[in-house]
Amino acid sequence: MARLRNTGLGIERICSFCGKSADMARRLIAGPNDVFICDECVEVCRKILTDEDQELTSQFTGDIPTPREIKLYLDQFVIGQDEAKKALSVAVYNHYKRIANPGKGGAHDVEIEKSNVLLIGPTGTGKTLLAKILAKKLKVPFAIVDATTLTEAGYVGEDVENILLKLIQNAGGNIAAAERGIVYIDEIDKIARKGENVSITRDVSGEGVQQALLKIIEGTIASVPPQGGRKHPNQEMIRIDTTNILFICGGAFVGLDKFIARRVVQHPLGFGTEAGAGEKSLKELFNALHPDDLIHYGMIPEFIGRLPIVVSLDELKREDLRRIITEPHNAIVKQYQASLAYDDVMLEFTEGAIDAIADTAIKQKTGARGLRAIVEKLMTDVMFEIPSMKGGKQVTITEDVVEKSEAPIIQLLQKSA
Ligand code: ADP
Repeated sequence: MARLRNTGLGIERICSFCGKSADMARRLIAGPNDVFICDECVEVCRKILTDEDQELTSQFTGDIPTPREIKLYLDQFVIGQDEAKKALSVAVYNHYKRIANPGKGGAHDVEIEKSNVLLIGPTGTGKTLLAKILAKKLKVPFAIVDATTLTEAGYVGEDVENILLKLIQNAGGNIAAAERGIVYIDEIDKIARKGENVSITRDVSGEGVQQALLKIIEGTIASVPPQGGRKHPNQEMIRIDTTNILFICGGAFVGLDKFIARRVVQHPLGFGTEAGAGEKSLKELFNALHPDDLIHYGMIPEFIGRLPIVVSLDELKREDLRRIITEPHNAIVKQYQASLAYDDVMLEFTEGAIDAIADTAIKQKTGARGLRAIVEKLMTDVMFEIPSMKGGKQVTITEDVVEKSEAPIIQLLQKSA
């Protein structure tokens, strides 16, 4: 393809795509090897890309990955939590199968109801991560919202409709795509009713919010204020149908195990007789969860009824944390290795260092959430010094660097002849 044209009067630059000369185009942008593109062709390319994106999100082709494929994808990013991954893969597959086949209720013409999901598990065990990766796999818009910022309409705080605004924004304003998205509502346990006696001061951030969320989660045509915040009477609203939005709610539900244990002790059926409920792990107790336990905890029955799939997550053990540091696609260690490679550094963590990082996270009781901060702290000095040092280097993080705050070992590498 000609990029330069000899006009007889000199060499003229031309757009490599449409052939327009520099005089004809408003702008001509140069690439390597005398390749050029004019502003109009850039605009055409941009349009092709956005149209493709829109098509991706607004046309639900019904080409849904199978539960097995979804789980395999989750395995690349989320360590452990096998049961949760399986349950979620099935739930999500069924949800999108239902959307892709509207009105097909099989021989009995049954309307299949949507199944929103409740994830229960300690902080930093991968609840948000699971929801995020699911949305990525299904290529649907995704929004994370925090239930604690919501209040009942008319009170200080955000109206519940704002969770939909986030989804619409993340869908690039494409309402049709947003209507098939996934919303993850974090800290759902924080909107539990505060005790039985709430009649004097209204429980605006508890039961009221659960009531307000009910409709949206179940499926309704909601009106969303385009600028967010509180609704005003004369404001123009965005209308969005929430029927096909999948809501995944997550919470640590601290203390819920005690409600379950109490019930299990009273009715020990289903548990081995030799071990009391007190010796059961959190996971075992959560597996014995009954909707009544959630109601005791302060969730209203109607709300629990809208979240028919309850999935519990395991506490992360030392071995899980070790794997999280090194294994996933974008593991912390891999990220630092890639970042420091730009500074000619080979970064190594000894096995002992990985153990020590995992142990520090266990002590902090923040699950995998604290891992990044722990590694970040170890790396600060290295990240500060290394860019000013010339030549290849090897940096080794040992157990002592983690446990005794010793300086990492920096070795200059000899250039091979
Ligand atoms: P929560 O359960 O509190 O929602 P998150 O999913 O937000 O926890 O986890 C916080 C961070 O910890 C994630 O971004 C991820 O880096 C890491 N993490 C947590 N659990 C896992 C896991 N099971 N596998 C891999 N990484 C995890």
